[in-house]
Amino acid sequence: MSKKISIIGSGFSSLASACYLAKQGYDVSVFEKNNSLGGRARQFKKEGFTFDMGPSWYWMPDVFDKFFNDFGKKTSDYYTLKKLNPAYKVFFGKNDFIEIEDSLEKIKKVFEKHEKGSSIALEKFMAIAKDNYAIAVTDLLYKMPGLSPLELITKKTVLKAGSFLSNIRKEVRKRFKNKKLRLLLEFPVLFLGAKSSNTPAFYSFMNHADYGLGTWQPTNGFYDVVLAMVDLGKSLGVKYYVDHEVTLINIVEKKVDSITINNKKIKSDIVVSGADYAHTETLFRNKFRQYSKKYWSKRTWAPSSLLFYVGFDKKLKNVSHHNLFFDTDIDNHAKNIYDISNWPKDPLFYANFTSITNPKTAPKGCENAFFFNSNCNKSK
Ligand SMILES: Cc1cc2nc3c(=O)[nH]c(=O)nc-3n(C[C@H](O)[C@H](O)[C@H](O)COP(=O)(O)OP(=O)(O)OC[C@H]3O[C@@H](n4cnc5c(N)ncnc54)[C@H](O)[C@@H]3O)c2cc1C
Repeated sequence: MSKKISIIGSGFSSLASACYLAKQGYDVSVFEKNNSLGGRARQFKKEGFTFDMGPSWYWMPDVFDKFFNDFGKKTSDYYTLKKLNPAYKVFFGKNDFIEIEDSLEKIKKVFEKHEKGSSIALEKFMAIAKDNYAIAVTDLLYKMPGLSPLELITKKTVLKAGSFLSNIRKEVRKRFKNKKLRLLLEFPVLFLGAKSSNTPAFYSFMNHADYGLGTWQPTNGFYDVVLAMVDLGKSLGVKYYVDHEVTLINIVEKKVDSITINNKKIKSDIVVSGADYAHTETLFRNKFRQYSKKYWSKRTWAPSSLLFYVGFDKKLKNVSHHNLFFDTDIDNHAKNIYDISNWPKDPLFYANFTSITNPKTAPKGCENAFFFNSNCNKSK
């Protein structure tokens, strides 16, 4: 009889694990505490408006393609992708914006308009970024089991030692003088939850993800990806349960024995948690926890965010699918979030209007909007 695996949560990590484990012949069940699947990527529908609740930037399409290819499938077997053009619009003030288009050639032209010679600098910067992407994704992400930091030391990364000592901000500022262009190139690492001045230059692979690979959109939004992964999982025999909150991971003789849901024990040979690590620890009785409360209280958490899902009763002009409002001081914003853990008084924000690409996500003549601003990362 195949071993029973219980997976906690139904975010992307759980959905992907479920597929790989089921493919290996395990009897897999996914238990989600919310009433719908997808975790941070779940969907919210109200009065004819459809919102992706978390992720909205579909970058690195190759990673999604590889996932489906691992099961003999193609991404297009499940959903249709559109490359956005413009990929996004960055506002620096009223009527002051730059549109990032869908190819490096077009982006180079925009750079050149803002700073003479910057298109050549960009081409060189992007060549390094592409090289870093190949190492980060192809050589590291898929090859290492992730058991030791030593796995990061390979022949290729040793040759890149310099880019681990420098940071993104330094490398960008060395090559570009124009403030707006600098911001454009420093912004993608914000997705990693860190300041460009604290992020090793090696992470310019995010710039390749941005300008090199482009910004894509599944027809009905990010939730298409959740549905696709669940569809694939079901075809492999995975069982999914919503409204099933795991309250305890039970250990018997130093081995996992079961999980508790609604006061009932569900026998499990293996438990995989896709819930946040700190939360997963609370599912063990004290003596089985790896870290103390004090330990977690001293950790630096990834930034949080303040989100608004808004339905407009009219069509909006002059905005794109993705809009970044960089019309305030980014350093002050970043200092508040990352250094002093305060809510910024004058925050940068991001606005997403999926109804511009797919009108079906809002009622006729309306627009849906998702406003996001990142916030401080206090652990308490
Ligand atoms: C606002 C926001 C915007 C983002 N934007 C982007 C973007 O544009 N592009 C991008 O690529 N990424 C983006 N991300 C990141 C991306 O959404 C996440 O990395 C990803 O969804 C996390 O998946 P996960 O499986 O690790 O965790 P989660 O999605 O958090 O899944 C964990 C699941 O576990 C469940 N759970 C927790 N405890 C229990 C329990 N005790 N019992 C049962 N279930 C439990 C939770 O309900 C949740 O469903 C964004 C994230 C956020 C929050």
